[in-house]
Amino acid sequence: MMLTVAAAFKAVIQTVRDLGTETVPFESATGRILRESVLADRPFPPFDRITMDGIAVNYDSFARGQHIFGVEDIQAAGMPQLQLSNTANCIEVMTGAILPEMTDTVIPYEHLTPSEHEGFRRFTVHKAVKKGQNIHRIGSDIATGAVLIPPGTLIGPAEAGVLATVGKTNVLVSKQPRVVLIATGNELVPVHTTPALHQVRMSNVYSMLASLEQMGIKARYLHLNDEAEEMREQLQSLLEETDIWISSGAVSAGKFDYLPAVLQQLGMQQVFHKVQQRPGKPFLFGRFNEGPVVFALPGNPVSGFMCFYRYVQPWIQSAMGATLQEPCYAQLSEKVIFDAALEYYLPVKLQSEPDGRMIAIPQPYQGSGDLASLLKADAFLTLPSEENVFEKGSTYQVWRFR
Ligand code: AMP
Ligand code: MG
Repeated sequence: MMLTVAAAFKAVIQTVRDLGTETVPFESATGRILRESVLADRPFPPFDRITMDGIAVNYDSFARGQHIFGVEDIQAAGMPQLQLSNTANCIEVMTGAILPEMTDTVIPYEHLTPSEHEGFRRFTVHKAVKKGQNIHRIGSDIATGAVLIPPGTLIGPAEAGVLATVGKTNVLVSKQPRVVLIATGNELVPVHTTPALHQVRMSNVYSMLASLEQMGIKARYLHLNDEAEEMREQLQSLLEETDIWISSGAVSAGKFDYLPAVLQQLGMQQVFHKVQQRPGKPFLFGRFNEGPVVFALPGNPVSGFMCFYRYVQPWIQSAMGATLQEPCYAQLSEKVIFDAALEYYLPVKLQSEPDGRMIAIPQPYQGSGDLASLLKADAFLTLPSEENVFEKGSTYQVWRFR
């Protein structure tokens, strides 16, 4: 019985195991998945922070009808806190400085007229003042000890800034999976060679290397010919020290599609072979006890691509403890008819409309061998297997790869 996509996905996710953690310097943690809580080591902001260049005064002066202030001193950013000695005066203050003691209100230069009186500088206030204005109060954003970044977060630019702010120089992140990409097929030649008429350059491995690289993962790869014994020998040597095998090709009904049999000989437990989907129907998934999980993807480039984003990427993200992305949806821009009882993954271009809708525009697509169709597409739109006619304006889930 061929599995539905939902059942296949569930079976794949059930095999997820924790890949472990490691500590890395925060400068090289971008793109990694955080595995600890990052806490505020101080309040945010850490002191009453001046937010405008101008003067700091004691608001009670206004109650006394005062509007001219003599300058006692200047408080620059990075200077220890000063104290206003006479509350009838002011201290000039700069953005980023700590609020001087005995002051509680900051008036920007734009609301002041400077003058001099008997050798002293003064400012006249010519705009209404609110008590406490232009001060970013200590702890008003975040209290000490609050969780700033929870585990499972993908570390990006915003996280890098917060890690730096709290002095988190070393962070606990997920280990990267040890991935091997396996290309199969006698017709494949290395990319730097000129193929003979009957040959093609090996491309799938490079799409997958790129997809993995976008996840911050380096992988190695090898090429196997359609020769059962050679396959068995080479794969045997990969069993140790790998977490994931992703192969392409040799899992369909061809006379030389030896991979399923070879994997079983090596002791792989097959979880399923074939899924009710197009492209990617011949997808085989299995696992070795105490060894790698095996995503044996069909060789057609669009099939492999779709299976990578639908199954492999979520497996890796779960294994790294990442919070899985929320599903994403889009509306079909035109009617589509697809009458096979398979879940259809249609390459679409996504276009976001001014009214907030996301539109999925089907791209010309000649089938799963049509590698170039992916160039114009951003995602696969999922059209459920129970329906055959998909109306313009209907909403379906999308799997983005761009
Ligand atoms: P298979 O699944 O082995 O029957 O392959 C299906 C199609 O995908 C064939 O036309 C293969 O030549 C092609 N193919 C398989 N593996 C690769 C690869 N690594 N790079 C490019 N094309 C491939
Ligand atoms: Mg093949």
